[in-house]
Amino acid sequence: MRKITVLGSTGSIGVSTLDVIGQLGGREAFEVLALTGNGNIPLLAEQAIACGAKLAVTASEELYSELKDALAGTGIQVAAGKSGLIEAADMEASLVMAAIVGTAGLAPTLAAARRGADIALANKECLVSAGTLFVEAVEKAGGRLLPVDSEHNAIFQVLEENQRHALERIVLTASGGPFRTWTREQMAGVTAAVARVHPNWSMGLKISVGSASMFNKALEMIEAKHLFRVAPEQIEVIVHPQSVIHSMVGYTDGSVLAQLGCPDMRTAIGYALAYPARPALNVERLDFAKLARLDFEAPDETRFPALRLARLAMTRGGQQSAIMNAAEETAFEAFVEEKIGFLEMADVAEAVMEDMTGWGAAATVEDVFACDAEARRRAGEWVRGKRAA
Ligand code: NAD
Ligand code: MG
Repeated sequence: MRKITVLGSTGSIGVSTLDVIGQLGGREAFEVLALTGNGNIPLLAEQAIACGAKLAVTASEELYSELKDALAGTGIQVAAGKSGLIEAADMEASLVMAAIVGTAGLAPTLAAARRGADIALANKECLVSAGTLFVEAVEKAGGRLLPVDSEHNAIFQVLEENQRHALERIVLTASGGPFRTWTREQMAGVTAAVARVHPNWSMGLKISVGSASMFNKALEMIEAKHLFRVAPEQIEVIVHPQSVIHSMVGYTDGSVLAQLGCPDMRTAIGYALAYPARPALNVERLDFAKLARLDFEAPDETRFPALRLARLAMTRGGQQSAIMNAAEETAFEAFVEEKIGFLEMADVAEAVMEDMTGWGAAATVEDVFACDAEARRRAGEWVRGKRAA
């Protein structure tokens, strides 16, 4: 019996996580301690009742009473806001699924890491903004970092620790998103409703738009650097439109090992939740005859500047990755609100990165939060300046 907490249970990864918990034996195998969400109170309350959670938390202070009412008489504790998220993370779960979107997930995930919980990490922004500090916090407290992002989960599955000395490269696959074959002129006028429709995966809004701009892949390059301790030059990206090969590892003997599967996050989630065992999951199986072919193409950093920005952030070091992430998150919100165009998301990120090259490496997590706030402020200025112009 494992005690588990799911941060971000109402999102795409959160819902899939609860499905996987059900498939792995439900209450026979897992005791769910806390669930957290944000705006969708009916779903959060329904999930908490269905899995017998001890605590349900909404990140939104204003929705505290709505959640309280929805769970009245159930015996389930209720909390709200940032302190509520920390309360959830601090409960004694030995495994915490980090599935909040964005930097909002950093503080609670770090709190769970610091008390030694194993972290199943979907919330890649933790690694992009806090990087080494986050990895060190996990290691110091003795927990495991279990990658859930499909690419990193694939690498985790095929990278043998005792062969690390022979590791040459990591090849992250990218679907190329809905605009893989589009020109920049075509992309310039799209709205979030168009950008969010992913050809292969069904996911939350932020990551779907990030797949269209390839900012998601940019975050994943930085995520890979920290998870697998490789140099930026060892990280390659290859566009693979079918999303069947989830990523690959290349060794010094020329061998390349890959993990394949249907595009369904439940396989990666199940691997992380059952680790080191391999679970039985009711997910679609690959039909190679039906698939017939796998295609590959080099990524185009001119049409998708996010990839170039990720390399720039890694080369420059300091807090450039955190800055890129925070500026892009602000730019993404402005894009969704139709204040800026699709291509301008990269412009905002690049301008703020350029502005903040003087911010050296973070010594503490507080430094990360300060830098994140400043990058958001500057990105907000960029957006407002554009509106004024
Ligand atoms: P989502 O938008 O579907 O869900 C996000 C969750 O975070 C929800 O529970 C939401 O209530 C909560 N949340 C939102 N804002 C919050 C805030 N300010 N404070 C606290 N909680 C908040 O997102 P998702 O697609 O499930 O993605 C979650 C994370 O997993 C992201 O980091 C994403 O990059 C990563 N990821 C997702 C997928 C996928 O298939 N969806 C795949 C790989 C990695
Ligand atoms: Mg991914």
